[in-house]
Parts: sequence; C-alpha cells; structure tokens
Amino acid sequence: TGTMDRLELKALISATADTIAAHAEELTTLDQAIGDGDHGLNMKRGFEAVRAEADKFAAKPLPDALTAIGTKLVMTVGGASGPLFGTLFMALGKEISPEPDRANLATAFGKAIEAVAARGKSQVGQKTMLDVLQPVHEALAEGKTPAEIVAVADRAADATVPMKALRGRASFLGDRSIGHMDAGARSTALLVRAVAETIEG
Ligand code: ADP
Ligand code: MG
Ligand code: MG
Repeated sequence: TGTMDRLELKALISATADTIAAHAEELTTLDQAIGDGDHGLNMKRGFEAVRAEADKFAAKPLPDALTAIGTKLVMTVGGASGPLFGTLFMALGKEISPEPDRANLATAFGKAIEAVAARGKSQVGQKTMLDVLQPVHEALAEGKTPAEIVAVADRAADATVPMKALRGRASFLGDRSIGHMDAGARSTALLVRAVAETIEG
C-alpha cells in the first residue's frame, strides 16, 4: 500500500476538521481585522461537511477521494476561500497517483498551487494562502522533514503580517491591511500541520 491508505485518509480528514474547529474563532478574529469575519465559520462548515462523509471519501481511490473532497469544499466553504481551497484539492486529485511517493506528491502539489493561482488570479507576495502554499511546496520538493515543513508553514503565515494585501477583501483596505496576519495563510498553515503530524504518526 502507498503512503496514504484508507485509514490514513480518514485520519487526515478528522485531523484537518479537528484543527479547523479548534481554531475557528482565531480564524474569524483574523478575518475580522482585515476582512468580513467569516473565515473561521466558512472553513468549519466545509471541513465538517467533509468529515460527515469521511467513510464515502475513504472508500475511493486517493485521486478520486481528493477530487470529491475538493468539490465538497467548493459547495460548502463559500466566500473567496471555498473555490480556492476546493481547486487545491480538486487539482491535487487530478495530478496525484493512487499510491504517491514523495516526488509525485511534490509535483502534484506544485500543479495544484498553480491551479489555485490561476483561479485566484493571484501570486506569491499578495498576502494570501499562496504565501504559505508556495514555501511549503518548496520545502516538500527539497525533501524537508514533516517537522521542518510545519515550521516553514508557520513562518510563512507569520510573514504575511507585514505584507500589504493585493487580493481578496483585505486588498480594499490598502495600507491598512499591513500589520495583520492573513486568515487564509493561517488556515493553510493549520492544515499543513494537521497533515504533517498525521503522516508522521
Ligand atoms: P471572503 O473573503 O470571501 O469572506 P474567506 O474569508 O473565507 O472569504 O477567505 C479569505 C481568504 O481567502 C484570504 O485570507 C486569502 O488567504 C484568501 N484569498 C482571497 N482572495 C484570494 C485570491 N484571489 N487568491 C488567493 N487567495 C485568496
Ligand atoms: Mg471572509
Ligand atoms: Mg465572506
């Protein structure tokens, strides 16, 4: 069996839903500062919807499971982040092999990030989830350990604080978006930690 079997997919679904639920208020507080204050609720709604159908997803081959999870996130998260996180998982499902090794995972993740950037018409440096996704991809491609990747993700989320938002609602604030962490960057770092810790055991 590959690096991700069915049991592990169920564990990943529950770990990601748990961390989003545990940090929903924090995500909402971040989004209140420079957005509309719904990011925690949006993410919680989506990841609980995925959790509710975990058995169904886990019964599918990994690529199909990720595609179905992405579709579910698009339908349930809402806001700007729903289609973007949904695209991330759908594109990952399209590119990943049924039993991925590290190289395939890194390549698939890179293509998934490109799909998010295309969908969001966004790029690194604009104070969004991409500012965490891209460094995580680089760390993955460089063969960093799960613990190192988690540290990279946390630092990358912190690094959005001094950035000026150029995409999403926060961009409406211009310079007033400076000095706050991007909510989507924080939720991405939380998801990375949950995945890394589940895979590491
Ligand atoms: P909304 O802004 O519609 O209320 P959310 O609050 O759920 O949606 O999500 C906001 C997050 O989505 C931002 O913090 C940012 O990380 C991400 N985001 C918004 N627009 C874009 C974009 N064009 N490209 C990449 N990420 C984006
Ligand atoms: Mg919002
Ligand atoms: Mg909103």
